[in-house]
Amino acid sequence: MVQAGVIVVGGGQGGFQVAASLREEGYQGSITLIGDEPGLPYQRPPLSKGFLAGKAQAQQIELRPPAFYAEQGIALLAPERVTSVDRAARRVGLASGASLAYEHLVLATGARARIPTVPGADLPGILPLRSRADAEAMLALLPQVRRLVVVGGGFIGLEVAAVGTDMGLDVRVIEFADRVLKRCVSAGVSAYLADAQAKRGVQFSFETGVIAFSGSEGRVARVQTSRDDDFEADLVVVGVGVEPNVELARQAGLPVQDGIVVDAHLLTADPAISAIGDCARYPTTWLAAPVRLESVQNAVDQARCVAARLAGRGTPYSKVPWFWSDQGDNRLQIAGVSEAGDSAVLRGDRACGKFSVFRFRAGRLAAVESINSPADHMAARKLLAAGTPVTPEQAADASLKLATLLAP
Ligand SMILES: Cc1cc2nc3c(=O)[nH]c(=O)nc-3n(C[C@H](O)[C@H](O)[C@H](O)COP(=O)(O)OP(=O)(O)OC[C@H]3O[C@@H](n4cnc5c(N)ncnc54)[C@H](O)[C@@H]3O)c2cc1C
Repeated sequence: MVQAGVIVVGGGQGGFQVAASLREEGYQGSITLIGDEPGLPYQRPPLSKGFLAGKAQAQQIELRPPAFYAEQGIALLAPERVTSVDRAARRVGLASGASLAYEHLVLATGARARIPTVPGADLPGILPLRSRADAEAMLALLPQVRRLVVVGGGFIGLEVAAVGTDMGLDVRVIEFADRVLKRCVSAGVSAYLADAQAKRGVQFSFETGVIAFSGSEGRVARVQTSRDDDFEADLVVVGVGVEPNVELARQAGLPVQDGIVVDAHLLTADPAISAIGDCARYPTTWLAAPVRLESVQNAVDQARCVAARLAGRGTPYSKVPWFWSDQGDNRLQIAGVSEAGDSAVLRGDRACGKFSVFRFRAGRLAAVESINSPADHMAARKLLAAGTPVTPEQAADASLKLATLLAP
């Protein structure tokens, strides 16, 4: 049990939650939350949804109002960057020149948007979408935008495409793979979501890479692709994945492998340092190999797990992963984690726009992808958490209430 002082690096979803949960757990020592973004910790999901659509203001996406931090005795240092970790002395160095002592350090440094390394990628008008500052930069440009090109048919790209069509923009999505969301969902769900966007006017270029951007009057004007297609663009949003922020951990000599390597308790190789959220790679019972997940659920539940451990109630992290994405009128919810090769069983009616795809691996339920079917999603989370056996026949039988499979 930690008593003296916890420092949390990263004032995002996970870092905020560690600080808040430590107090909920009754921890009475000092908590210092250090984040390099200006302002209060905020939620990222609205950045590609309501915030970008102009339906939510900056204050509305803050995780807590300013008074929360003083009331809870959480020292928030922002914007401030942690530049070094001295494990032997248990101190962190700050960009401002100060250094602070910790008894336990939590690395919740998140991830940063990957930027293509093709010619012209640094032209004004080409933006990633990771931070509130990115979204604000996009909002400032949008009034002059008619043609939006989205590079990457992942979750963020598709959400931005949906907001773009709502705004009446010409939207094109350029995707390297042969379908959207290929790494994350079954072919059926990919096809449904792409069709839905196409009906709203989004144009797709599949199996296409971007090879260069070119500009006019000091900003991006064209996107050149591997298929010799050129697309005109007033704004390019790049959603081609993220790089975990592992530099601090690496500098501190901690094992790093596409994420900070942690054990089942989310501890790094140093028992005085934990890592959580988008930056951490952890062993899970849901997959054969350790995994790094990027979701609000993962950041929040891992933060709670670490806070409980620091307060003396440690248990291995074992929560069922889940995720959501809003794309126009469609809400995708995923419970569990699928892999290429998992079989897919349809439940419900695709034509009605309400269905789920149950993914099975070696005869066991591995994940459930639900479109506009929150009841299936909630049941799936419970079934996965309980380890309840589900057969493909039961999954396909839409007349069977999934909740009845759970033990009373
Ligand atoms: C546009 C967008 C939409 C999303 N939509 C969804 C969604 O619909 N559903 C969902 O489940 N998930 C969604 N996500 C993912 C989700 O927001 C992330 O998984 C979650 O924020 C991860 O939390 P985190 O604390 O690990 O990292 P982050 O929230 O990224 O926070 C990390 C923070 O640490 C800071 N930092 C890094 N290094 C340092 C340092 N050395 N010193 C100080 N500070 C540092 C970073 O600047 C950042 O502020 C979305 C993400 C984005 C970007």
